[in-house]
Amino acid sequence: MKILVVNAGSSSLKYQLIEMDNEEVICKGTVECIGIDGSKITHKVNGKEYEIEKPLANHTDAFNLVMECLTNSKYGSISSPKEISAIGHRVVHSGEEFDRSTYIDEKAMKKLESVAHLAPLHNPPSLACLKSCMSLVDCPNVAVFDTGFHSTMPDMAKLYGIPYEDYQASKIRKYGFHGTSHKFVSQEAIKYLSANGYASDKIVTCHLGNGSSISAVKGGKCVDTSMGMTPLEGLIMGTRSGNIDPAAVEMLAKFKKMTMEEITIYLNKKSGFLGVSGVSSDFRKLCEAIDAGNERAKLAYDMFNYQIRKFIGSYTVAMGGLDSIVFTGGIGENGSLIRSTVTKDLEFLGVKVDKELNVNAPRGTMVDISAKDSKVRVLVIPTNEELVIARDTKEVVSAL
Ligand code: AMP
Repeated sequence: MKILVVNAGSSSLKYQLIEMDNEEVICKGTVECIGIDGSKITHKVNGKEYEIEKPLANHTDAFNLVMECLTNSKYGSISSPKEISAIGHRVVHSGEEFDRSTYIDEKAMKKLESVAHLAPLHNPPSLACLKSCMSLVDCPNVAVFDTGFHSTMPDMAKLYGIPYEDYQASKIRKYGFHGTSHKFVSQEAIKYLSANGYASDKIVTCHLGNGSSISAVKGGKCVDTSMGMTPLEGLIMGTRSGNIDPAAVEMLAKFKKMTMEEITIYLNKKSGFLGVSGVSSDFRKLCEAIDAGNERAKLAYDMFNYQIRKFIGSYTVAMGGLDSIVFTGGIGENGSLIRSTVTKDLEFLGVKVDKELNVNAPRGTMVDISAKDSKVRVLVIPTNEELVIARDTKEVVSAL
């Protein structure tokens, strides 16, 4: 069974064709600059890369080009679109209309349209791509939501302290994001922990990248997460402020003479590591600046480190204990320094990391970096969001 995974952005479209029998990626690629000058596709198959420049007015044009590459006689992987059993789409926000990955028919499409405003930059391109796929390929389409894994959060964790009737009418509450990543790494962790005789009931998953979020996963289900109604809440990130007193937002807007729209962009794009350090949103560049003696870069690092530790602490309390901490995402998978500073002096929680294992952890594979006598297993797990989308799509389609 072959499943095509599609992740549409406002001017981009990423795709992977996955053979579900062995869960291997057959080919993958990216379409860039859809609807603007310079549109092109980069298609990767069998270790080779093919680039085609072509004007693409919209997502339908882009998807047509993807299909041309997939079925191309020279570098294609299938002879006909009929070989694709289903298409799985990454959709950022489900609102309260969906609490799991869902087969998209006309009725579901209407519901999706009704929540598009909740993620105005992300949901509309996914919808455009879904519509193109539904009209161009005769196979089931499934929406897999970034918010989906967090739908199990109890009300006390997901509601904000606003009048309840306003929550009911507006649906404004915590939803959480990076759900496919938290789902993948928590499931991988549970497999590893149970196979090796370790407890796996209470896991804190730390997805640390350009965007960062932390989740509490109890009994395999998400019970809390750091991102909120939008991905701005929670930890300080590359360009996002993370948590801030809501009343300070109004003060900032007045101080900067900005409208609410402008201040939201400022908090999403000009803040975080970039804003605090004045150096970069990129974690590696931040670390280089620290090595060169930049104090504001060190401050941004310390804020990140401190906040991750606070979330781990609060989620340990929320779950009544801690069996495992998982690091993933570009920073979590590759940054041995942040793993080391986050887990430092946490022996009172049962956390002990093996320094050598941490520093020498091979990349691209799961590594248990805990010391032998650590009560809590500390794991580095490369995330695979596309595989979760493909697995969910297979599950939904198999039940049709
Ligand atoms: P992501 O959003 O998951 O792709 O992660 C991107 C972030 O990972 C950027 O801030 C990168 O600087 C960071 N990153 C990538 N490689 C490393 C590395 N070797 N050490 C520390 N951070 C890294």
